[in-house]
Amino acid sequence: MHLQLNEHFWSIQGEGAHAGRTAVFLRLQGCPVGCSWCDSKLTWYAGGERVAVEAIPEIVSVYPESELIVITGGEPLIYDLDPLLETLRRHFPQRSLHLETSGAFPYKGVERPNWTTLSPKYPVDFDVAPNVLLAASELKYVVDEHFTPEIVQRHEQELAALGRPLPPVCLMPEGCPPLAETVERTMQLLRRHPTWRFGPRLQYSHTAIAEGEGRNNQQVTSEDARAAAHRHRHEREASPREPARH
Ligand code: SF4
Repeated sequence: MHLQLNEHFWSIQGEGAHAGRTAVFLRLQGCPVGCSWCDSKLTWYAGGERVAVEAIPEIVSVYPESELIVITGGEPLIYDLDPLLETLRRHFPQRSLHLETSGAFPYKGVERPNWTTLSPKYPVDFDVAPNVLLAASELKYVVDEHFTPEIVQRHEQELAALGRPLPPVCLMPEGCPPLAETVERTMQLLRRHPTWRFGPRLQYSHTAIAEGEGRNNQQVTSEDARAAAHRHRHEREASPREPARH
């Protein structure tokens, strides 16, 4: 089986409950959800490399040791991740496998990572896939002018119908770096919901972390993302070669 790999890098997990832990990131290509403030639009269109799942442990091994292997995107659940999860678990039994998803697509197989960060994109209207809700280790929401606590309550009700309590809730101020007004809005929400947590974005707070991040986690316009995909396609056609492994 092959996956379209947008990029990979070693860094510090910058977001969510595991912020600060060392991680090798595998960013998969492709996402049809279309959030306006997406900071990985460069995954939306053609790009990345087609990589055999069996070659991915070798890619991970190029980097320094890490506690985590984080599968992100794009939207990783557009793929059947069973082969990747099984392969990573076999090669790196000591590392924790984490996945970041919008929940717009279900898990297609039976394997689950050790940690699922579910980050529903409420400005786009879709129901979170029930098997992703069930697997969620944390719920992470981007706080912008559209975010309301009712969105969390809706997911809490959906979870209750599935027989599960609400996992930890993390509110992450929108912006790269977070905007002063969204930080203030997040603080106001936390005053009213004290068991929810403030979600950092360490990669936008510390230059040294940002420099270690991949090239495709950045704010660009949809047009720029489309132009980058066009350039990528053109370059590939101009110099056909075997799919790169890393
Ligand atoms: S779901 Fe994630 S990757 Fe997809 S558009 Fe939204 S923020 Fe970007």
